[in-house]
Amino acid sequence: QWQQVRSQLRAEVGDTAYGTWLKPLDLNELDGDRVVITVPTQFMRDWVVAHYADRIRTIWAGLNPAVRSIALNVRPAGAPAPAAPPPEPAPAAVAPEPRSEAVDGTLDDLGARLDPRFTFESFVVGKPNEFAVAAAEKVATSPKPAFNPLFLYGGVGLGKTHLMHAIAWRLKQCDPSRRVVYLSAEKFMYQFIRALRSKDTMSFKELFRSTDVLMVDDVQFISGKDSTQEEFFHTFNALIDRGRQIVISADRSPSDLNGLEERIRSRLAWGLVADIHPTTYELRLGILQSKAEQLAVDIPLRVIEFLASRITSNVRELEGALNRIVHHSTLSKRPISIEVAQDVLKDVLRAADRRVTIEEIQKAVVDHFGVKLADMSSARRARAVARPRQVAMYLAKQLTPRSLPEIGRKFGGRDHTTVMHAVRQIEKLSAEDPQLADDLEVVRRKLQA
Ligand code: ADP
Ligand code: MG
Repeated sequence: QWQQVRSQLRAEVGDTAYGTWLKPLDLNELDGDRVVITVPTQFMRDWVVAHYADRIRTIWAGLNPAVRSIALNVRPAGAPAPAAPPPEPAPAAVAPEPRSEAVDGTLDDLGARLDPRFTFESFVVGKPNEFAVAAAEKVATSPKPAFNPLFLYGGVGLGKTHLMHAIAWRLKQCDPSRRVVYLSAEKFMYQFIRALRSKDTMSFKELFRSTDVLMVDDVQFISGKDSTQEEFFHTFNALIDRGRQIVISADRSPSDLNGLEERIRSRLAWGLVADIHPTTYELRLGILQSKAEQLAVDIPLRVIEFLASRITSNVRELEGALNRIVHHSTLSKRPISIEVAQDVLKDVLRAADRRVTIEEIQKAVVDHFGVKLADMSSARRARAVARPRQVAMYLAKQLTPRSLPEIGRKFGGRDHTTVMHAVRQIEKLSAEDPQLADDLEVVRRKLQA
C-alpha cells in the first residue's frame, strides 16, 4: 500500500520534487487506522507537512478507508535512513567552490566577497540608470526596508552587480551590526543542494533567515530549477514577513522570468522594480572619463569620444576596451591616439560593427518570407504576415540587446507583452516544426554573415 501511495505521489508531483521531498519518507508503522511516517529532518518534515500532507492523506484514504490518522515524525538520529536522492539533475553548471565551507559556518561564509571597487562613489549616474541608483541608495540608507523587495534588472554588463555591491558596502558603513548577505543565485543553489546532501537543511534555513538584508544576484539562474526555486521562495517569504530587506537582480523583468513559477514572479514584483537601460552616448562618455581618472592616465578627449561612439554594447566591453588601450600604450610606449585605438581594438570594433540592428532583421525576414516591409508594423493579423512578424520580433530579442518595449516600438508600436508572446510562440513552434527551425537558421546565418 505504501508503495502505491508513493507511486501515485510521484506521478502527481513529478520526479524532481518527489526525489527531493517524498522519496526519503519511510513508513514506520501501519497499525489499524494509524499510519506513522518518518522523515530524516525537521526541515523536511515542515516542508512535507506544509506541501504534501493533504495529498498523502487523500491518497491513503482512497486506498484504505480504514486509515484515520497519519503522523509525520522526525526519524531519530542513528535510525536507518534511505540513500540520499540526488536533489536536482546533475548541477553541471555549478562551478566548484574554491574552498570548502560548511553550511553551518557563519554568515560570512554564506555570502560572496564584495568587490572594493564597486561602490556608489565609482558608479557613474546617467539617464539610463538614475532611477535604479536612486532606489539602490534609498535601500542602502534606510534602517527599515524601503521597498521590499528591490528588484533590479537590466542586460549584461550594465552595472547590476556593481550596484548590489554598492548597496552592501553602504549598508555596512551606515550600520556595521546589520547582517548583510550578498550572493549569486547560483551560489544559493549550490549551498542549498549541499545542505540537502548532508541532510543539513535546517542550519541552511536558519542561517539564511537570520540575515537582516539578503541580496541575491542573477536570480534568472534558478529558472527551471524547481526545488531551489521553492527554497528560495520560502526564504524570501520568511524574510519579508520578518521585515528584513531583500534585494534581487536579474537580466530581465519579473514577468519575463520564464521558468519561474507564477506566484514567485508576481511576488518578486511586489516591491519596487527598477530597470537599468542600455547606455547612452553621454553615459558612456562619463564612464570613460571616470575610469581614465581612476587609472590616472591622460586620454585625449577625441579617443574617449571615439570609444563612446563605437563601443555601445555594454559597460563591461567599454571598460575592457579602455584597459586594453592603456596597457598597450604603456607597453609599447606609444601615446594614446585614435590610430592606436583602432589598431588595438580591431577585433572588438569589427564585432561591434557587425552587430545586427532591428531594421536589418526586419529586412532579412521580409526577404526570406516574401512579405512587405510595411507588414512588420501593420496591424494585419493574417497568419501569412503575422508569423514572419513574430519571427522578426523573436530574432530581434535573440540578436540585439534591445528590450521588449524597444522592440515593440519598432514593430508599429506594439507593447512588450505582444513581443513577449511572439518570442514564446516562436520558441515553442520552432521546437515542434522543423521547417520553421530551418527558416530561423537561414535568416540568422544571413544576418550574421
Ligand atoms: P552586470 O552585473 O549588470 O552584468 P556589472 O555590475 O558586472 O554588470 O558591470 C560590469 C562592469 O561595468 C563593472 O566593472 C562595473 O564596475 C562597470 N559599470 C557598469 N555600469 C557602470 C557605471 N554606471 N559606472 C561605472 N562603472 C560601471
Ligand atoms: Mg552581474
